[in-house]
Amino acid sequence: MRYNNNYAPKLLKGIGVSPGIIIGKAHLVDSSRVRVRYKYVRTEAEVAEEVEKFRGALLKTEQQLNILKNQMPDQVREHEFMLDSHLMILKDSMLTDATVKKIQNEKINAEWALTKSLKEVKQIFEQIDDEYIGSRIRDVQNVTERVLRNLSGKEPPHLSDINERVIIVAHDLSPADTAELNISRVMGFVTDAGGRTSHTGILAHALQIPAVVGLESVSEMVEDGDLLIVDGTTGEVVINPEDSDIIYYQEKQLQHEAYISGVSKTSHLPAITIDGHRLAVLANIEFLEEVTAVRDYGGEGIGLYRTEFLYLRSKELPTEEELFENYREVAEIIAPKPVTIRSLDLGGDKVPADFDIKKEANPALGLRAIRFCLKEPHVLKTQLRAILRASVYGEVQLMFPMVSDVEEVLVAKEILNQAKSELDREGVAYDCDLRVGIMVEVPSAVTIAEVLARHVEFFSIGTNDLIQYALAIDRDNEHVAYLFQPFHPAILRMIHQVVKAAKQAGIPVSICGEMAGDPLCIPFLVGLGLDQLSMNARAIPLIKNLIRLISLEEARTDVENMMRFETADEVKAYAMERAMILVPEFGEKGRQQEILLR
Ligand code: PEP
Ligand code: MG
Repeated sequence: MRYNNNYAPKLLKGIGVSPGIIIGKAHLVDSSRVRVRYKYVRTEAEVAEEVEKFRGALLKTEQQLNILKNQMPDQVREHEFMLDSHLMILKDSMLTDATVKKIQNEKINAEWALTKSLKEVKQIFEQIDDEYIGSRIRDVQNVTERVLRNLSGKEPPHLSDINERVIIVAHDLSPADTAELNISRVMGFVTDAGGRTSHTGILAHALQIPAVVGLESVSEMVEDGDLLIVDGTTGEVVINPEDSDIIYYQEKQLQHEAYISGVSKTSHLPAITIDGHRLAVLANIEFLEEVTAVRDYGGEGIGLYRTEFLYLRSKELPTEEELFENYREVAEIIAPKPVTIRSLDLGGDKVPADFDIKKEANPALGLRAIRFCLKEPHVLKTQLRAILRASVYGEVQLMFPMVSDVEEVLVAKEILNQAKSELDREGVAYDCDLRVGIMVEVPSAVTIAEVLARHVEFFSIGTNDLIQYALAIDRDNEHVAYLFQPFHPAILRMIHQVVKAAKQAGIPVSICGEMAGDPLCIPFLVGLGLDQLSMNARAIPLIKNLIRLISLEEARTDVENMMRFETADEVKAYAMERAMILVPEFGEKGRQQEILLR
């Protein structure tokens, strides 16, 4: 169904995944689903024909993907792995062999059998409690969609023949779709589907093109040729704007461009407040491939290396050697700057295939992170050996996640000591002074922070989980997302308490949750006296710049003021006010409201 634009809301709000503002014409990409009908296939000959048709479609899809891979624009060549992953999915027996079996055993047509296989794969993915891995089901969907199109003879959307500068509007964009695009003609992307870790976002980032995803039905609201404004920073999309909107966003665009170019020029300078207080600004990463971007954006190291990916990408657990090679490379590339490697934060539904653990009713409260590792000490020890071995190749630190009591720290450190003794016996080198810290992200750890501080060498506050556990809000549940409030007075008090405990014990304290990269939170975090902030690499230039505009003294007053408020809304309003004074480029308030009310 297509909405009539006369009645459509003019302003849509999605997730801004690549910053910047653009104004241009929409180019609607028909990435609509192929309609699949059930057909009963009677005879052996018909069954054989369906199987053959299916294999033919797989082959055609493989050829198409290989052609697209070869045509990939240079700017995104480093993301070729996305198409490789599609080629791998195409060969996965859960899709291919399972579909053939269904055709043969259930006597159904290839399209119906493939759709059933996709459903089964989806069910498996739904059990994975990890935003990144979970969102990869869209890759499987994209590949399946392409095979279905080939089965039905429907042509894939042609994106190579766009001959003017446009904003691409689609239900979803697969890496194959993006590879086909004439990038020089694309001003931006907006899609119905997608989240923060979607491919559209990753590619838009690489291309430095504004993008907004997760708009739910933008592809049904927009007509080809409609004028659009896309603000990839705020996630706003305005359809057929009025002249005054255009003027407003043009101004914002100019300010944004001037601001970003100014900010980028200084991203390699240290983040020192105007009264001389220095904060270390580091990056969070999940993949080895991100390390060079950390340096490019002026990151002063890696404050959080999430290490789950190597464990979830295949059915088998990674070997010590694989882990060591990966950690060594990260440590070497970022050296002499530091990297803090977090031990496994697996568990709940995020369990490697090798483990036969029952599905839990409340995975976030279940056998996750350090709890999982202490239940499977050999897994932890293998990882710790790899981290220890890598520690001689750079400035490595180790951090345990989701600690909720002292006992966990003691046992984890005991396993670390065992790993060290083993390496000693084997004559393998490691950094004897490897610093060990914990993530403070469970309310009980906040309460006993001063006790925990006696047993570790640093704290890193994981505000993503701290907010989830303190406010009882499932961080992945969109129905309670509105309650996820970093500025909740309880959260401010908890961070304050942890920083105080760390200072009293004389250990450094950092923040590695999303709050660290949120400009609105910076005065509060600076004022509290945090030593280090670790964030998405792209946020680094802006955050460093902001720190340079603040004085520690003023920020301390901000903390006092913010701690006096009774509600999150009051704190947020104060933080907005401050940000607006510090950086007027953040834009006027009330504009969104104005457009919505029209
Ligand atoms: C956090 O919880 O704030 C954090 C940084 O860790 P993750 O998002 O990986 O749980
Ligand atoms: Mg966490």
